Amino acid sequence: MAVVSAESVSCSDLGCWVGQLPRGCELCIKGLKSVIFVTGICSENCFYCPVSPARRGRDLMYVNDCPVSSRKDIICELIASGSTGVGLTGGDPLVRLDRTLSIIRMLKDFFGSEFHIHLYTTGLLINNGVLSKLVRVGLNELRIHVVAEYSWHALEAALKHPISVGIENPILPGTLEDMKKLILRAHDIGVEFINLNELEFSEGNYLSLRLRGFRTKSGGVAAEGSEELAIEILEWVKDLNLDINVHYCPSVFKDRYQYIRRMQRRALNTKLIYEEVSDGLVRWASISSCPESVVDKLIRSDQAFVIDGEVVTSIRVAKKLGCDFQVVEALPLTPRKILNRL
Ligand code: SF4
Repeated sequence: MAVVSAESVSCSDLGCWVGQLPRGCELCIKGLKSVIFVTGICSENCFYCPVSPARRGRDLMYVNDCPVSSRKDIICELIASGSTGVGLTGGDPLVRLDRTLSIIRMLKDFFGSEFHIHLYTTGLLINNGVLSKLVRVGLNELRIHVVAEYSWHALEAALKHPISVGIENPILPGTLEDMKKLILRAHDIGVEFINLNELEFSEGNYLSLRLRGFRTKSGGVAAEGSEELAIEILEWVKDLNLDINVHYCPSVFKDRYQYIRRMQRRALNTKLIYEEVSDGLVRWASISSCPESVVDKLIRSDQAFVIDGEVVTSIRVAKKLGCDFQVVEALPLTPRKILNRL
């Protein structure tokens, strides 16, 4: 695993941290967490908001980027992904409190109390009543995106409840002093962990970030200078020997590990008889020419299938028969999302 930095804090593609990783991150690293986008509605308008224009401000729900509209859809997607926990995000899930509570209750009922659930919010809608309800239905971890003074009130209130409480903010280059103040204040009130996310360009924030002078690192979507600042902050935390867990989550981790591991699980859990699985993708053969009698025989023996007018079979069978075929490569979504025909 590549070590990317530094003198006193060593980092791999999985990130860098001082202290312990939050439970939600431990599961995420293994690809065991799914993401439930509860709603695109949010009362803030952060210039770095990564939410896509198609979702921002719209009351839509997704699980792992698949649109869902019912409890059954959510459960099916989580079973297909083999998840043992979820992160509830948006938008601000607390804008739709009843929906959020009912999702948490349903997941705990269906998957059991060990199923781990964390939730992101700015804290605007947090109060003791809301916290009691969240704790009662079984929320395990609350991650506050600190955007204003009200986020601190939310943190202070949450710390009085039996729940894991942390901060999760992107690392904006040029904010070293602000981040130090944030960490010291979090430490003083007893916040358990701080997650620092590498700032990423997305369809939703590209223009806004470019207009403010941020640039992408070569060959990626991460912002120049975000990782360096995160490492500087971790070294500072380590030097001060602060009793707080701080974790830096690099953008590359999501692409190379979290996403691929989740896709690999989904592929294995939903593999069709003619599919091969590797690197988080499924592959099969689409026969372009083969003697009709051979194809008929394959279909009758359930080794080939006609799907949307194409005859499909496993690559192994297609090779063995010497038929002409294309290898189809797809994301293991339902329905499959074809990426390449080779
Ligand atoms: S709080 Fe989060 S969802 Fe809301 S605008 Fe800011 S980044 Fe986007």
